[in-house]
This record gives sequence, structure tokens and C-alpha cells, in this order.
Amino acid sequence: MNILLIGSGGREHALAWKISASPLCDALYTVPGNPGTAQCGDNVALDVTDHAAIIDFCRAKTIGLVVVGPEAPLVAGLVDDLTAAGIKAFGPTKAAAQLEGSKAFTKELCAEAGIPTAAFARFTDEAAARAYVAEKGAPIVIKADGLAAGKGVVVAMTADEANDALAMMFAGGLGAAGAEVVIEEYLTGEEASFFAFSDGTHALPLASAQDHKRAFDGDTGPNTGGMGAYSPAPVLTPALEEEVMARIIRPTVAALKARGTPYRGVLYAGLMITAAGPKLIEYNVRFGDPECQVLMPRMKTDLVAAMLATVDEELKSFDVRWWDEVALTVVMATKGYPGSYPRGSEIGGLDAAEAVEDVLVFHAGTKQVGSRLLADGGRVLNVTSLGKSVAEARRRAYDAVAVIDWPEGFCRTDIGWRAVAREGNGKSPLTSAGS
Ligand code: AMP
Repeated sequence: MNILLIGSGGREHALAWKISASPLCDALYTVPGNPGTAQCGDNVALDVTDHAAIIDFCRAKTIGLVVVGPEAPLVAGLVDDLTAAGIKAFGPTKAAAQLEGSKAFTKELCAEAGIPTAAFARFTDEAAARAYVAEKGAPIVIKADGLAAGKGVVVAMTADEANDALAMMFAGGLGAAGAEVVIEEYLTGEEASFFAFSDGTHALPLASAQDHKRAFDGDTGPNTGGMGAYSPAPVLTPALEEEVMARIIRPTVAALKARGTPYRGVLYAGLMITAAGPKLIEYNVRFGDPECQVLMPRMKTDLVAAMLATVDEELKSFDVRWWDEVALTVVMATKGYPGSYPRGSEIGGLDAAEAVEDVLVFHAGTKQVGSRLLADGGRVLNVTSLGKSVAEARRRAYDAVAVIDWPEGFCRTDIGWRAVAREGNGKSPLTSAGS
């Protein structure tokens, strides 16, 4: 079949790489794509917000499956419009995408279904919110209700910080996303991401991952979209994964079905592994970026077949298999990111990087101009590797980074430190690999 992929980041290059390897895929188109997805198929310059244009394209190219990478088109109802036009699409409807589109929606769903999560309260009034902060004290977590491109969460270590965040959000600093604010109990523990497919009724566990959100070594510096990741996450043992399925994922799928808005697509649960067990921090309604870049190289199963089983509500009789190897990705970003940074610096050495054993370089923010590859964003490349241990995968990824010729770029030098330290303790990360 012909397949259309929506998106343009490193996540989409990883998806395009896996989709184009499927025997079910005749032709792959990516809207708008990047120079990496162009290696896997054709990029198409369409406006993702113009649903009618996307539908026309699907009809012209007899597209059999549309895969939506990022959250914004899901929350905007692209899957609803494609489905209404008779075109199969992987991803939740607008109603089910509220799991990511509204933090208050997810907190209410957790309360209703008894899903473990941080205690919370919702506010549309600043004075009431400040009174709640005064009552609860710090540390405390302030979240804008809506989509805020990763800027909507403030983990406040003092009441002053919490009040500053409330003032910023209620003054419209995040636009409509901050019109309602959720205030949460501060959770402590180790964070991990867990992924599952849901066909509306059945949920199928995928694999776990951990990422590094801070810009600099030692998990210091400002928050970013993610500077690196690895899979599996050693903290998520098979027993904990089963607990996540039983107490978080399956109740979510059942609650959305009961509401008449079944969830079809990939569920990405951001978890805190607390002393009292796993708790849900947040849901995302798509693959993580950069977590997707470490899941795809580990997936043995045909991704297109798995996505079709999800859309066709046949997950009950489906299984997803994984390579035992650990995958790790190092994000290379333009110096200055996540603040302001220049565009247009030239990148060389990618062929040499990919010649390192078991290394793949996914493009995130790059641009091809003639024969030159230029940086065209904050996060630019995802240098991804496989290895028998996190230490081996990490060595390969950094060997590849070392031969990339891009003086204007930087990366963290310690991706995977927590897992490498665990390996040093004799605990193999392979014991928590997916099915
Ligand atoms: P989010 O954008 O919701 O993923 O939140 C960003 C980060 O804020 C998370 O990855 C956590 O590190 C942190 N965070 C969010 N909620 C909480 C919470 N209730 N307790 C502690 N940390 C949190």
C-alpha cells in the first residue's frame, strides 16, 4: 500500500525508516518531511493544517494508511476528518487526543478510573490558585491546561516560584493554553516513559525508554525537548511494566471506551516510579521525540502491520517483538538551543558516522541545499546506536558523534549515565526488555 506520514522531526525520520522497511509499503510520502525522510520516500510540501488538501492528496495517490507523528494535527482532528473521508489513519480522534490536549481532562479521567497520579486541583482564577499554593506549600507543580510546546510545566521549588508561574500563565504568557491551570502534588522518584498501542478495546505493551530533558551534562541547565534517550529503561522491570499495564494503561483504554471516545493509536505514558509504585505524570498521544528514535531500531515486528492491526481493532491477536539490544540516541543541537540559535551552518561527516557499527543518524532539523546539508533548527541530528549493553551502545553513538564535522553543534556527553551506572552494579538493562 501507499502510506502518508505527517511530521518533520527526528521522530518522523525514525518512523519513515521503519515504515519504508515494511514489505507492506509500496510508496511512502511525508508531509512536510525533512532530508532524512527524503531518503525513505518522497517529501510533499502540503500545509498540515489544511485537512482538505491532505484528503485530496490521499485520494490522488491512493493512500492506504496515514500515520500522524506529532500531537498538534491529532488534537486538531486530522484523524476524524480522514476517517470521515474513508481514509485509514493511525492516531487518536480529536476527542481521545484530549489525553494530551488537556491536562485537566487527563486528571479527571484518572480520578474517575482510580489511576495512580499526583493529587491535583484545577483553577481558572489566580487568587484561588495562589491560596491553594499557600495552603499546600512547596515544592509544588504548576501546569498550563493546554498544549504549550513543552513550556507549560513549572516544577516550583518555592512558593514564590509557583506564584510567578501562576502570574505568567494567568497574564496570558502561554496564550489560551494557560487560561486554566492544574496544580499538582510534587512526586519524587525516577522518571520513565512507557509506550503501548491501543485499538480502542485492547492494549498491547510496546517498550520503555528514558530521556534526558536538561540541556547540559549532569542533568543541569534549562529544559529542552530532549537531549538523548535509551531503551529499555532499566527501572521498569517486567513486574513494574505489568503493573503499569494493569493500573494505568488498561483502565485508561476502558474509561475512554466507556465514554464513547475509544483510543486508537500509541499511548505514551510519562511515569514517576515512586516508593508507592508507578504514577502517571502525563499522557502523550503519539510517540516521544527522541524516544521513538530508540524504539524503532529495537522493534523486530513490522510496524505497518502493527499499525494496521491497531486501526482495524485487531490487536487482541497481534504481538510485537523486540531485539534484545539496547538502543541509545544522542541529540546534536545548534549551540544556543534551547535559547535562540542561528540557522544555516554546514554539517559534514554523516557517512563516516553511519559507517560506525550499528549506528544510524536520524535527521531532525536539517535542510538540504544542493549538495550541502545545513542545520535548520534547535535539535538537528539524532545519532542512534544499538549495543549489547548501554555502555556499548553509548560508546558507538559517541564514536559516531566524534566524526561528525559540525563546529556549530553541541551534545551532552553523558547520555545514559544512570543506566550505565546500574550496569556497573551488575544489573543488566536487558532484563526489562519488552515482550
Ligand atoms: P511534562 O511536560 O508534563 O512531561 O512535565 C515536564 C517534567 O516536569 C516532567 O518530565 C517531570 O520531570 C516534571 N513533573 C511534571 N509533573 C510532576 C510532578 N507532579 N511531580 C514532580 N515532577 C513533575
